[in-house]
Amino acid sequence: MQNQHEKLSQKYGSPLYIYNGDTIIKKYTDFVNAFNVENLKVHFAVKALSNLSILRLFKELGAGLDCVSIEEVNLGIQAGFSPEDIIFTPNGVSIEEYRKAIEIGIKITIDNISVLEKIAQEFPDYPIFIRLNPHLMAGGNSKISVGHIDSKFGISIHQLPIVFRLIKKYNIKVEGIHVHTGSDIIEPDTFERVANLVLSIADDFEDINSIDFGSGFKVKYKENDQFTDISKIGDRISKVFNAYCKKRNKQLTLRFEPGKFMVSESGEFLTTVNVVKQTTACSFAFVNSGFNHFIRPMFYNSYHEIENVSNPNGDKKMYSIVGYICESDTFAEDRILNEVRESDLLVFKNAGAYCFSMASNYNSRLKPAEVLLLKGKDFLIRKRDTFEDLVKNQELPEIVEYI
Ligand SMILES: *Cc1c(COP(=O)(O)O)cnc(C)c1O
Repeated sequence: MQNQHEKLSQKYGSPLYIYNGDTIIKKYTDFVNAFNVENLKVHFAVKALSNLSILRLFKELGAGLDCVSIEEVNLGIQAGFSPEDIIFTPNGVSIEEYRKAIEIGIKITIDNISVLEKIAQEFPDYPIFIRLNPHLMAGGNSKISVGHIDSKFGISIHQLPIVFRLIKKYNIKVEGIHVHTGSDIIEPDTFERVANLVLSIADDFEDINSIDFGSGFKVKYKENDQFTDISKIGDRISKVFNAYCKKRNKQLTLRFEPGKFMVSESGEFLTTVNVVKQTTACSFAFVNSGFNHFIRPMFYNSYHEIENVSNPNGDKKMYSIVGYICESDTFAEDRILNEVRESDLLVFKNAGAYCFSMASNYNSRLKPAEVLLLKGKDFLIRKRDTFEDLVKNQELPEIVEYI
């Protein structure tokens, strides 16, 4: 009996990214259902997984997008999003890039005072979001610190007097307040503290219609892993937010920008074992991939479950799973897997977020294909790179006589 992974690998080749669309739909629905507010908008963070078909799926679900580059914005437009459903939250980009975003008509977030002044001079009527750095140390743990003092993101809340001066001088229309810190926040208490601080600052912005709390939602990577319980967070934040709207006597829109939460668990990265190498110390399983396709384990030291789907009943043994890149390229050390044989398929879990989107052509390898599963059907959503893709932008001018 051929299992589904074997079928997909035969049909589309290996290595292969596989996303379960039904899982994405469930995550989105769970997220939306966790909140009980009048106006909620969930902007999927495109950088986590930027395939057009995935964006189209989010569009159908009613989501908006969070984009950090003009290219991501253009992907969103190509996937069918209306400009008003796209929020631009870049960091340190040129005024030129802001100009393009404004021409398209999307929502923009400003996280720097010099940019605020330039935009105000050039586009005095264009409404903006202000991205704040609240400098809040959550739970006294620097690992989950929220927009800590030396973070490059956001306008420091200590610089708010300058912001207000500029708002007055140019009559800037601030339509929303934004915070995103990138931390894994697990405790509902922490979220609520951030929310309360941001809302107290929002008091001083008269014309806002939105509060955007960014992201910071953690997912499970293994059994017993800590994760953000979205229903608890939803409960707490909804109460705080509804009370705030009541106090201001205005229905604001509550916005979030989850990336990892929406797609991490939906994704699998399928690889084939090229070689098994037995040394005196341990066994290595070499797969037909490396950090060119899947860099999180090396870059962030992230843990990804690995399953040998070709030998589910094999004896348990310990392996180091490594790549084929000519550099240290370890996916996992000392993992217990069902016996790994050459040509077996190994599947890495939690490969939906920041995996394909961080892939490169290092070692002049080709990027893998991507497949989307929906209601038991499989759809190719990106062809595997070809050799042509590697060379298509390269020029070969007449340099010989200069050598
Ligand atoms: C990266 C990013 C996100 C998404 O973060 P996740 O941890 O993937 O949920 C949201 N908002 C902004 C501004 C970001 O830069």
